Parts: sequence; structure tokens; C-alpha cells
Amino acid sequence: MKNLVGLTVSEIYELIKPEGYNLMHAKAIANSIYKKRITDFSGISKIPRKLQLFLGGIAEQSVYEPLASEVSSDGTVKYLFRNPEGKQFETVYIPDKKHDTVCVSTQSGCRMGCPFCVTAKYGFHGDLDSGDIISQILGIPTAGKVTHIVFMGMGEPLDNTESVFKACEILTAEWGMALSPGNVTVSTVGITPAIVPFLEKTGCNLTLSLFSPFPAERIKVVPAEKKYPVDEIIDILKGFPLKKKRRITVACVMIRGINDTDRHLEGLKRMLKGSGIRVNLLPYHSVQGDENVSSAEERMMYFKHNLVISGISASIRRSRGADISAACGLLASGLIQEQNEK
Ligand code: SF4
Repeated sequence: MKNLVGLTVSEIYELIKPEGYNLMHAKAIANSIYKKRITDFSGISKIPRKLQLFLGGIAEQSVYEPLASEVSSDGTVKYLFRNPEGKQFETVYIPDKKHDTVCVSTQSGCRMGCPFCVTAKYGFHGDLDSGDIISQILGIPTAGKVTHIVFMGMGEPLDNTESVFKACEILTAEWGMALSPGNVTVSTVGITPAIVPFLEKTGCNLTLSLFSPFPAERIKVVPAEKKYPVDEIIDILKGFPLKKKRRITVACVMIRGINDTDRHLEGLKRMLKGSGIRVNLLPYHSVQGDENVSSAEERMMYFKHNLVISGISASIRRSRGADISAACGLLASGLIQEQNEK
């Protein structure tokens, strides 16, 4: 049986075209799965009974639900999923006053090897497909409240472009979940060949993990720098014509004494001045056995203030879900424990 969850409208159309059905039928099916979250083909009122029966014979709508969940004292919820092939991955639901955000994984583990990241320590267990990504949103109990999606969970999204581009299309298309592309953000360490295709094929926001404006320092924390130098990526981003509301951001996880000095601040300003690229400053979460600590809030405020008065938009991201290891860089800690116990 073919699972329709994760298919685009053109893929659904390819399935039903040989039976004489048209694109409008495909749109009605996609709309029922993604927007109305109908789980039984007989509930799709806008298609003929014969098509409902045909679909029932060849396909299923299988959104799978999480296996376990953990709730943080700040209301953040971390979910553990296992797909039908046994790949495990985590998803984080972050409720806030105005937004309800889901942070999705794109791979089970990751192969980028960033030394401060817990997901990297879990190893790489394979790519997720677009159905796995969409299930992380439709499969959680609060699916109906979700307003924003961030691709910042386990894995490097631009190392799995086919599934990620498809998921972005499903999230933002009128026939799909119809979220504004401005409410969907894909985060990357920077995979140069995938940057322009991402910018051209999706309308979603992009966040680039920078860490340091100095390549010799960045490479120690973001090994992808060796193959994909950040200076080249910034040049591509500066040269790409962006629509007005589309946001390109660099994210800097701030570690005291390591990347929060005045030299780093000046480097950031030099790199980004006049580019329209924003800066998001994030607190650092130490992992076990690590002596590094996050920059103090005052230091982060100092960075933000100085960037803003230089004409660079900057913000500080509040940490969420750290007590359940759901914060940035901490996903997969439970999976590692399980792996070690085997
Ligand atoms: S920080 Fe992101 S890209 Fe780096 S290892 Fe962790 S999940 Fe992968």
C-alpha cells in the first residue's frame, strides 16, 4: 500500500491520472490529508465514491504517532518517534504566547559531526522521508494549534534536500497545510550546493549556523566549514534577490570567552554589514564533561545592542526545554542512553 502522507499534489495526481481523475481531485485529496487531517478516504467529500474506493484499494493515509513524550517545566514537549523502518528521531513542540512551533528532525542522527552536539554523538541512522517529517507535525496531539515550523531538530536538512524540499512544499502550499512560508525556517550548517536550490525552490526562511565569523575558529565547531567555507555561502546569500518578508539569519551559539569577544563582534559586523542578513544569538547548553559555559545574558545583550546600532537586525533566542534535553544541540540524549544500554 502506498502511503499518501508526504506526497505532493503532483505525486497524488500521478497516482490517480491513469484512472481518469484530474488535478482538482488530487488537490481535494491533499487538502483532506494535510489541512482537514481526515484519516479515512470515505471522509473526502469532494471526490467521487469510485475514487474513494480506488484509493482504499491502493493507498493508506498513515500519520504515525509518537512513542513517548516528556514535558518541560516551561511547557515544551519532546516527542520520540519511530518510523515503520525502525529509524528513531525526536521532535519538539514549543508553545508560546503568540506562536505554537514544532521543531522537526530531518534525519535519524546526523553525519555532520559537530563536536558540541549530542545528536552527532548518536551517529547517523539514515534520512527521513517527507512522510516522516510531516508525521512529526500531524502526529502530535496539538497538531491543530501549530503556527510555525523550524527544521532544527536532529540532522542536517540540506543533507536531505529531496525530503526537505517536499516537506516545505506540503507545509506552505494552498492544497497542503497552507502555512505562510515566512512561518517555516530551515536551519543549516551550510551545504553550499544546496543553498541556491533551497532559495529557488522554497519560499521559506533560512538560518545558517555560524558560531564564529573566523573560518579557522568555525571549523573546530562546525566541521562542514572545511568543505563548504562560510564566506562563500555568505557571498551567495548576499547576491540572491530575496522577497521582502523572507528572512535569512545567522545563528551564533554563544560561549563565554570563546566567541563572545569584541573581536568576534567586529568580525560579525564586517561580515554582515549592509547584507540584510540578521543575527540570532543563542545561549549555549553544555553537555556532560564539557567545561564551556554560555555567555552571560549581559554579554549577549551587549552584542545585540552593538549589532543593532550598526544597522544589523539582531535578537536573542530564549532557551526552551533544557530540563528535558529538548534545547538546541541536546536532541538524541535519550537515544544515546538507550544505545549504550544495549
Ligand atoms: S549541530 Fe546540527 S548539523 Fe551539527 S551534528 Fe548537530 S544536528 Fe548535525
